[in-house]
Amino acid sequence: MYLYNSVSHKKEEFRTHTPGRVEMYTCGPTVYHFAHIGNLRSYIMEDVLEKYLRYAGYEVNRVMNITDVGHLSSDADTGEDKMLKGAKREHKTVLEIARFYTDAFFDDCRKLNIKTPDVVQPATGCIDEYIRIISRLVETEYAYLSGGNVYFDTSKLGRYYVFNDHDEEDLAVGVREGVEEDANKRNKNDFVLWFTRSKFEDQALKWDSPWGVGYPGWHIECSGISMKYNGEYLDLHCGGVDNAFPHHTNEIAQSESYLGHPWCPQWFHVHHLNTEGGKMSKSKGEFLTVSLLEEKGYDPLAYRYFCLQSHYRKALVFSWENLDNAVAAYHKLVARIAALTPGGEVDRAVFDRYREKFLQQMGNDLNTSMGVTAVFDVLKAGTDDATKLALIGDFDAVLSLSLLEKAAARRAEDARVKAVPAADGAYAVTGEGDPEIDARVLARYEAKKAKNFAEADRIREELKAMGVEITDVKGGASWRRV
Ligand SMILES: [Zn+2]
Repeated sequence: MYLYNSVSHKKEEFRTHTPGRVEMYTCGPTVYHFAHIGNLRSYIMEDVLEKYLRYAGYEVNRVMNITDVGHLSSDADTGEDKMLKGAKREHKTVLEIARFYTDAFFDDCRKLNIKTPDVVQPATGCIDEYIRIISRLVETEYAYLSGGNVYFDTSKLGRYYVFNDHDEEDLAVGVREGVEEDANKRNKNDFVLWFTRSKFEDQALKWDSPWGVGYPGWHIECSGISMKYNGEYLDLHCGGVDNAFPHHTNEIAQSESYLGHPWCPQWFHVHHLNTEGGKMSKSKGEFLTVSLLEEKGYDPLAYRYFCLQSHYRKALVFSWENLDNAVAAYHKLVARIAALTPGGEVDRAVFDRYREKFLQQMGNDLNTSMGVTAVFDVLKAGTDDATKLALIGDFDAVLSLSLLEKAAARRAEDARVKAVPAADGAYAVTGEGDPEIDARVLARYEAKKAKNFAEADRIREELKAMGVEITDVKGGASWRRV
């Protein structure tokens, strides 16, 4: 596989420390609020990457943290504590907030067919790891105590800006306007490894440490958790492009200073989901969540399809219109698969040829839009339906669009539509097996056929008010609850 590496700024052949095995780490969510669909774009693309690596024959150990402590509202370490902020907003304890939004995150993931990583570790569960790492950094003078906190000394590094060749000015996102400088720091980019009670007296979660009672900084948790579960050699680190600086930069700084050898050679960054007004964020405009998509009648997997249509290294623009286009394309794809007849022998030679092509295309820097195109190519291929269905199922192990399941459901639905005859022999009704609504839909169909459009519209409106949507189909109508 060839993958773009944010460290080298090049597409490179993917390599692992141990042949055939990938130690993979993903920065998980800070569980103080729902994830917005822009955050989830990263998790979708990382999920495809993980599944592709398994598909290509690797054994994968994927680890993810859950940030339930220590993430301040600036990604540098200034501002309020995000978890405390969430708890105050909802009049709950930090632990209640963490539990609630962790569950909400995994609910969203399930709806988007995102597999749960092999290891999911809340940051509060690895305090000893952080203390061990920080202690050694203090001993070796990569870290210092100042004003009650422990800071990493970035001036001790040969190279700090690992992801960019830009100058400091461009990268000074940690020093946003209006954010006060921390006078305890020796250098502007130094960052907190451990806070003591000198900061945030109302911090709920605190632990004893050699430097006083306190809590860890945000960056140290990923290094600690990764080293605990992935070992000292990480192959692939993933995250949203926002995390490259300062979070990932700081992870590398502390990890390599601690280990004394290179830590992770390959970095995978997923780019932003933008709205037409700019970068999507929780505080700006409509707060787009999976639940909101569902409320508006969208299948979360149509959003996954929308994401797969574009490359992870390009900013993707979200609009309802763009999503509608993806929904239409996704439905059309499912309908075409539903039209295939299951059963019969698979042509192995054809299967292998198409599989190899899919492997190559997706292996070119995770080209997911080519992966989706590959499904259309199979549909057009000059082979039998059994082989086509086998290939689509095979590709879907990576794409995870539930293509075969959706197609089977559609096939069953179509069969049911045809099985419900209307008075004149045309079929009229489908839906969810509610005879009363069936009868109303049938009455509307009859009214329309008699050109009594006022009556037909009246019934449609009446059903709409009950949350029932009618779709006209050839020779009848079908309905669903929305
Ligand atoms: Zn991280």
